[in-house]
Amino acid sequence: MTMEFRDLKQQYQLHEREIDAAIQSVLYNTDFINGSCVKLLEMKLAEYVGVKHCITCANGTDALQLALMAWHIGKGDVVFVPDFTFFSSGEVVPLVGSTPVFVDIDEDTYNISPDSLEAAVEHIMQNTDLRPRVIVAVDLFGQPADFDKIRQIADKYHLLILEDGAQGFGGKIRGRKACSFGDIATTSFFPAKPLGCYGDGGAVFTDSDEWAELIRSYCVHGKGKDKYDNVRIGMNSRLDTLQAAVLLEKLKFFDEEIETCNQVACEYTNRLKSCVKVPLVKEEMYSSWAQYTVCFQNNGERERAAELLKENGIPTAVYYKKAMHQQKAFKENGFWELDYSMTEKICDCCLSLPMHPYLNTNDIQKVVDRIRQV
Ligand SMILES: *Cc1c(COP(=O)(O)O)cnc(C)c1O
Repeated sequence: MTMEFRDLKQQYQLHEREIDAAIQSVLYNTDFINGSCVKLLEMKLAEYVGVKHCITCANGTDALQLALMAWHIGKGDVVFVPDFTFFSSGEVVPLVGSTPVFVDIDEDTYNISPDSLEAAVEHIMQNTDLRPRVIVAVDLFGQPADFDKIRQIADKYHLLILEDGAQGFGGKIRGRKACSFGDIATTSFFPAKPLGCYGDGGAVFTDSDEWAELIRSYCVHGKGKDKYDNVRIGMNSRLDTLQAAVLLEKLKFFDEEIETCNQVACEYTNRLKSCVKVPLVKEEMYSSWAQYTVCFQNNGERERAAELLKENGIPTAVYYKKAMHQQKAFKENGFWELDYSMTEKICDCCLSLPMHPYLNTNDIQKVVDRIRQV
């Protein structure tokens, strides 16, 4: 059997009966939009995370955009975004008319570096007329960002925190769940994320009644009393009832899966730490292991390892090959007279290995042996 990078097939086979029944019941009810599963899922997710409101939407990118819209972020505003993340975290910033300022990352966690963040805020205040407004803090690869320090900086400069928990859902800091640290937090249910559905999906989390109400309006055509009473310009961004039904089933075994991923990560780390830089999860942190990412000494080694693993039927991925400030799309929209040496180094040397709850000890050993060979 070939090894999967993220094994959604085994997961489905294991829970086939319950998931099929959940889908069937939506088909019988034909409540495809705004069905009862959507409301129930929002309640369960809000309870799971420990925040007052959960608003589901069409995907994790829309979720980020909806947050910025609720805060009326626009022209002349600056949104700080880690330089090492998926494109979406920065894409939504010019979409609402504001300016992304990319920030270098921490050497060990690959999350936004609080020191670089503070330097970036100072730089913008001293050298531009732009207004610092928001910090996008990404819970990269499953580990929550350093919210203790990020909150201090946010308070000092009166900034809002938007937690991009697309990869971090299920993670924790001292027992407190990811997606509860931002003033608004978002996640994605893209199939390969820690909690994935069978298509696209996303959600927004907040304790604020005011922002929650605005987001509920923005995601249904800026609705007022109903969707034919339109009081603002919005979007059409909803989670399908079918996806909600799948997610309700998957939520039941979600914690168990993450616990198993933590065991897999532990095995990888024990066997790899003497030959490559293994991921560091800080003591008070609990990762949801969206990715298990190692770093080689240089680009040549990384490329050799990826090639050798591929020849042996082991899938890997490079998250991420290109820093945000190097993306052509940001050429005219961004601002980056800052130092990105850490991100550039990690982009050259990182490699993500197969990571899911159905990896057995044999699979892990196979991966480890090939990497040791390099
Ligand atoms: C996947 C991802 C997103 C976007 O989610 P979609 O549901 O694919 O739109 C945003 N941010 C990060 C960090 C992601 O990994």
